[in-house]
Amino acid sequence: MTAAGRLVLVATPIGNLGDLSPRAAAALAGASLVCCEDTRRTRQLLSHGGITGRRLLSVHGHNEQARIAEVVGELRAGRTVALVSDAGTPGVSDPGTRLVAAAAAAGIEVTVVPGPNAALAALVVSGLPTDRFCFEGFLPRWGADRRRRLEQIAEERRTVLLHEAAPRLADTLAALAESCGADRRVVVARELTKLHEELWRGTLGEAAGEFAAREPRGEIVVVLDGAPAPPEADDDSVRRQVRARLEAGQTLRDAAASVAASLGVSRRRAYELGLAEAGTARNGGD
Ligand code: SAM
Repeated sequence: MTAAGRLVLVATPIGNLGDLSPRAAAALAGASLVCCEDTRRTRQLLSHGGITGRRLLSVHGHNEQARIAEVVGELRAGRTVALVSDAGTPGVSDPGTRLVAAAAAAGIEVTVVPGPNAALAALVVSGLPTDRFCFEGFLPRWGADRRRRLEQIAEERRTVLLHEAAPRLADTLAALAESCGADRRVVVARELTKLHEELWRGTLGEAAGEFAAREPRGEIVVVLDGAPAPPEADDDSVRRQVRARLEAGQTLRDAAASVAASLGVSRRRAYELGLAEAGTARNGGD
């Protein structure tokens, strides 16, 4: 019986070939088949790494599903298969996820050579909070899906990472300014690691004006500050809400728990403020 092969996801540069890591080059040199989006582009990368004679197979957004049986066949036959995308980390706004899931389901070892990723590079250089963030990829281009996503982003408390194409940048910034407010901080990270790398920092309102006034080029990640925390509820609103629940027949304990959840205050505070209301409610109102 032939031992099963390995699928290796290999991250590649997002613009600067110097970012091809020695481990990435070794993984590509050690693979008998390299799955990639654009074979010409990947051949250039391989020749930059001094790697020749690799078999290349195109796996892109439109044929990934159809290629799975063939690639899993190669893996079952004991071959090492590398998967790369045109740039960055495969599977992130790029093909790869379905192939990885199929290989894992077939019991084949899947491993990764981590490396460049545009969204993470933009996040860490943005100066916006990195402790909690979310990746939104490309926004839907139009319609109800786009509106819904913009509304969700407006409420999102974590830093938001978006991919955007240069010709749509100004429109997207204007739509974000409308949904999130013109004062929200934003960083536009353009052409990272390349000759014309630019990090533009300001508010959404300023960004919408700036990028409408010039025709930006190249590849872009938008890093958006999270929504501000809502102001803490004041004592009167907590009391009012506890009282309404007591009058509806809830116990003070239940009323305090439910108000704590709906106003984002501590149960203890809701309970303590509710004690006086509970007394008033027992005495038949004030
Ligand atoms: N898998 C890739 C990664 O890990 O970064 C992302 C691929 S996605 C199809 C391409 C998008 O990534 C571009 O439209 C742009 O939003 C972003 N991107 C790629 N390279 C970039 C760069 N050098 N500077 C800024 N953004 C970049």
